[in-house]
Amino acid sequence: MWHILGAGSLGSLWATRLARAGLPVQLILRDQARLRSYQHAGGLTLIEQGEAQHYAITAHIPDHPQPIQRLLLACKAYDAAAAVSQLAPRLVPGAEILLLQNGLGSQDEVARAAPQARCIFASSTEGAFRQADFQVVFAGHGHTWLGDPLDLQPPIWLEDLRQAGIGHDWSLNITSRLWRKLALNCAINPLTVLHDCRNGGLTEHPAHITCLCNELIELLHCCGHSAAAENLHDEVQRVILATAANYSSMHQDVSQGRRTEITYLLGYACNAAQRHQLVLPHLQALHGQLLAHLQAHGLPSH
Ligand code: NAP
Repeated sequence: MWHILGAGSLGSLWATRLARAGLPVQLILRDQARLRSYQHAGGLTLIEQGEAQHYAITAHIPDHPQPIQRLLLACKAYDAAAAVSQLAPRLVPGAEILLLQNGLGSQDEVARAAPQARCIFASSTEGAFRQADFQVVFAGHGHTWLGDPLDLQPPIWLEDLRQAGIGHDWSLNITSRLWRKLALNCAINPLTVLHDCRNGGLTEHPAHITCLCNELIELLHCCGHSAAAENLHDEVQRVILATAANYSSMHQDVSQGRRTEITYLLGYACNAAQRHQLVLPHLQALHGQLLAHLQAHGLPSH
């Protein structure tokens, strides 16, 4: 049984594809009110290339008594630890939690909240967004890397993902992948918020991008992730050009008045620098400016 916490963008994308492959799936929704609106909607709708498909997947709330062996955690990084703590009494010994959260930091928080479980980290380039409650658009086909820094043995359920058509690979160095993605995010997303531009707008700020990349490279080396630092600047430039017409996820969050995952992205990078007594002036200034910007827009700065 796949228990999936969070029927947002990624949770719905995973739930519908697993259910479509005939695999057993149950959703865990926040509370009775969310469960009632879900029941009213009659299930999840996945919109793929303009075609909508409906899936009447069973759902329940966190205090349901059913034991959990395998949990897909599909909430935002800032909700992850609290969500898992709530479910901790239901996790059987040897339970597995698959963590879809972007950035770094929430994985350790979850591991502390559920020490009896195996935590498997994911880094995904898939893209989805909620068109309406319980209606999700599959916007960008991509790939998901999964891994467990404490146990390199892949779990048997990777076969379920293959059956469900979820493109994936088992990564022997998932932490490095998460760091690489975090570094790309730090070099691009905050600046798109501060300049209020699409990713392509950053081509007007090459010197600032170069300074940020140099500091991120220094940080990655210092944190023992030299592989994640390789050609970072080239990849940042490539991503800016390849996604020139897009608004970054952080820009979308801010413009729609939603809380960002800053603590687990730029905030995490700045904390790591501080722990290593590294002085990274551009990165730290960017963090300060972003925090001020969020506060000015009435958004949480954590
Ligand atoms: P999302 O659309 O906001 O969905 C998060 C869901 O988690 C919401 O439905 C929310 O419930 C639910 N939730 C939060 N706390 C809960 C709790 N205690 N119990 C039950 N449900 C709970 O977020 P998302 O875009 O799927 O992102 C999830 C993670 O994936 C993020 O870290 C994001 O950065 C990462 N990611 C997303 C994408 C993408 O394309 N969307 C791509 C790559 C990575 P409510 O609906 O009740 O608020």
